Amino acid sequence: MPDDRPNPRPEAPAGGREAGLGLADSQDPRFNEIPRERVADRVAQELLRLIASGSLVPGERLPGERQLAQMMNVSRVSVRAALQQLKAQGLVAATQGGSTRIIASSESLDRGLGRLVRADLRNLLDLAELRAQLEAWAARRAARLARPEQVEEIARLFAVMADPERDPKHKAEDDFAFHMAIARASDSPVYLHLLSVLGDIFSESCAFHRFELCPTPEDDRRFLAEHRAVLEAIRAGDEAAAARAMMDHLSSVIAAYAALPEQASPVTAGSRQ
Ligand SMILES: [Zn+2]
Repeated sequence: MPDDRPNPRPEAPAGGREAGLGLADSQDPRFNEIPRERVADRVAQELLRLIASGSLVPGERLPGERQLAQMMNVSRVSVRAALQQLKAQGLVAATQGGSTRIIASSESLDRGLGRLVRADLRNLLDLAELRAQLEAWAARRAARLARPEQVEEIARLFAVMADPERDPKHKAEDDFAFHMAIARASDSPVYLHLLSVLGDIFSESCAFHRFELCPTPEDDRRFLAEHRAVLEAIRAGDEAAAARAMMDHLSSVIAAYAALPEQASPVTAGSRQ
């Protein structure tokens, strides 16, 4: 496209200026004109950088346009245009209240995946196996990188699960919250985005595991001991032990699939399509 222009802008990287080539000679199609950046593009790039670095996480709300414009010292028009770009790229979405929130790189994946998994029990088993690999990686990372307050948060969520007074109806959501806290402590924006894409289907599979696949009080005690092992390895900063404890935990779930009859329902009744 830039080649069609009769008179490229002087800012374009002519490349040959020093070599004494005139701009009119610059017809080499390998080199394209670099467009001058608009302020809106710079704002969009900066927000993208914050999302990619994990400073802005999926689900988080952005400050309002005016506040962003003030903080970034640009016009509201530029902020609005930048947010439009990020919306088109599927990185942010408008909320009901008129603000903007960060979304995962591809939230729509979750719905398609959800259908796939519900349709066939083997898909749920695949998901459990993949989850084991991912979470063992996350546990290893958390053991290395978790900040003290993140370890405290994991410990706090473990204490909720360990509380004998806690109503068992919360056990799946408590379990999932524990795993999400480890995910956050893994300090990987990529992993967090991946999890927020897979989050709903992971939390659903968690409910299936806790209420249907492994529903007995004995199962609950085993899960608690496995969670404790994960927590202690992360707290000790022992990467190998953390990965092993997480793998043992999720492998015990995977093993339970083998005992299921062929036509078992892969999901809880409430979420069946
Ligand atoms: Zn668990």
